[in-house]
Amino acid sequence: MNILIKNANVFDGKHAALQENVNIVIEQNLVKEIVGGSIPEDDYEAVYDANHHTVIPGLTDAHVHLSITGNSLSDGWRIDEKAVRSVRFAKEMLLRGFTTVRDAGGITFGLKKNIDNGFLDGPRILPSNSMISQTSGHGDIRASHAEERITDRIYASADLNSKLSVIADGVDEVTRAVREQLFLGASQIKLMAGGGFSSAYDAIWTVQFSLEEMKAAVCAAADFGTYVMAHLYTPASMQRAAQAGVKCFEHATLLDEETARIVADQGIWITPGPQLGREYPTTGLPKSTIKLIEDFRNGERSSTEWIDKYNLPILYGTDAFGDIHRAAEIQLDDFRLYKSRFGSFRGIVAATGNIHELIQLTTYQNPYPEGKIGVLEKGSFADLLVVRGNPVEDLDILADAGNIRFIMKNAAVYKNTL
Ligand SMILES: [Zn+2]
Repeated sequence: MNILIKNANVFDGKHAALQENVNIVIEQNLVKEIVGGSIPEDDYEAVYDANHHTVIPGLTDAHVHLSITGNSLSDGWRIDEKAVRSVRFAKEMLLRGFTTVRDAGGITFGLKKNIDNGFLDGPRILPSNSMISQTSGHGDIRASHAEERITDRIYASADLNSKLSVIADGVDEVTRAVREQLFLGASQIKLMAGGGFSSAYDAIWTVQFSLEEMKAAVCAAADFGTYVMAHLYTPASMQRAAQAGVKCFEHATLLDEETARIVADQGIWITPGPQLGREYPTTGLPKSTIKLIEDFRNGERSSTEWIDKYNLPILYGTDAFGDIHRAAEIQLDDFRLYKSRFGSFRGIVAATGNIHELIQLTTYQNPYPEGKIGVLEKGSFADLLVVRGNPVEDLDILADAGNIRFIMKNAAVYKNTL
């Protein structure tokens, strides 16, 4: 299939200046070339007129959980319910313009396979498979079933049963847990390296996994040509993870200057999802929780400063999971928060060009090696959006789905209101 997109103003994912009034030539599922001038249209099976709108690489959300589609982590739903709901979750993400997502934990094997083979509509998925957690860590989601210990290897919780997370303690268990995710095709490994808001047994300040355990995970991932991403908030967790060789920090909300320097030195990626930058209702919450929320709001402000001062590499990640309507509200709307924190250009690069860089950390485990993701140039997958206005100059434009007039993934058109 040969496709021509004419009258395009192209943002390539890396440079602020657009290539104006050019043609995008697509052959099979790849961009063959981007050229100026007029091109005879007869050679193409389909011709689309971008009408001088901005054409950008398909977006990537680098932190979603496709398999968490209930209202809470421990909703007690059956595995088949979760799987069925994740189908709609994935399709809606694609229709928002996310042609790729990095899944930050949860089983997406069947979903990914059936999207990739064309049976279902959805984004490309960079899967982590199960999140790996220590006992009593942020992925220990036994909730009210805690008394049913797992020492006999019987997982009492439906969520653990679904392998949303797996529990591993000690170098041997962690190594094995990592290898199991690689066996299922994980393109990166997700560790829970610190406490969280949503789990029952780990305060947010807890540091999780010993240095040796994390090093073992990094080593097992590196041997398969990939990297570890870690959930963490505090400087103590981040510094230990950095020492172990973790390459991507998720949240990193309480980043301080000392840690920012380490992150800069080691070229660690940060997904600074604005979890609390959104409206967050506090009525009826205990005082200690309100205090925590304030600390995190302040953390978002100061981490923004350090990210700016040390020019730290960032990724766009929304932690879209749970209630399907909430995900619909935040996934594009977070571009407003990225704009206010990092500016429009850095914000859009976090969802495009930086993703291309990030994927270079994955070699043998890259599920999509035949094309480039996150950039729009020769050799890119034909994953692109036509947007009204220029989101490189004003990222708020992307927060309104109506401005996304055309969505193409792998040379197939999923939306066209041109
Ligand atoms: Zn997450």
